Amino acid sequence: MTSKDSAGASPALMLGMQMPNLDRWSDRVVTALGQNPGAFTGPGTNTYLVGTGESQILLDTGDGRDDYLPVLESAMEFAGCRTLQEIVLTHGHPDHIGGVQSILDRMGPLRVSKLPDPTFDAPYRFPITELSDGCVIETEGATLRGFHTPGHAPDHLCFLLEEESGLFTGDNVLGVGTTIIPAESGDLGDYLRSLERLLALAPARIFPAHGPQVEDACAKIREYIAHRLQREAQILAALEKGVDRVVGIVKIIYAAYPESLHAAAGQSVTSHLRKLEAEGRVSASPGDAPGDAHWRLQ
Ligand SMILES: [Zn+2]
Repeated sequence: MTSKDSAGASPALMLGMQMPNLDRWSDRVVTALGQNPGAFTGPGTNTYLVGTGESQILLDTGDGRDDYLPVLESAMEFAGCRTLQEIVLTHGHPDHIGGVQSILDRMGPLRVSKLPDPTFDAPYRFPITELSDGCVIETEGATLRGFHTPGHAPDHLCFLLEEESGLFTGDNVLGVGTTIIPAESGDLGDYLRSLERLLALAPARIFPAHGPQVEDACAKIREYIAHRLQREAQILAALEKGVDRVVGIVKIIYAAYPESLHAAAGQSVTSHLRKLEAEGRVSASPGDAPGDAHWRLQ
């Protein structure tokens, strides 16, 4: 598999990847691994303690595994953090927000902030403080500035650690592989615009929600944009050959990947087709089942 192809191998490459339970990635950033490894979370969700003081920000919370709380507490000790100042979330997918309640149960009430989303936030009982594009969250030694970056999820925020130009990308840019753009709640056009916006920030390093940190942030973001455009070209080429259903397109352009990942790949292909449809470049006629449309070039 070439390195270019590997950009599309997200879940396959992430399977089995090992990361330490806790680690220091900068003077202001300590990681605590969410203990939720899997095909789509890789080694698990990276949660981050941010700051230099005795009270620090926790960015993301994993999905609520019992094993996570002792790891978080060890990471706090390692970071010199006696208490959490507050919890901040990149977005409302369960592997980011799912650990909040157990942390509140253990540590007492804390402010929990994110960009609200009625669908993603509905299952949770704790109050959510609203964040929006341009928000600033400060703690001793660190300033986080939030950027609304929809595409992977409508409520997604990335956070720039201003003191060191480190970018917490959530699920928009990962430490290995690529992210999934869900066919229903995702939006590939938005996603590409979000990547361009992140690139314009000219970040130095990426602290992703899954996988290791990325040292050359701009090169990685450019690689992500190029990868999506390459996939789009492959989809258009398949349509040109008369392959008109998502399942057939996936079989061609994801031939190198295990079939267990084809359903997820189908989500991304559908997201591409919807983007192309919005641009007037393809159109669909209904298939026999929902989600089984026949697509053609315009
Ligand atoms: Zn996500």
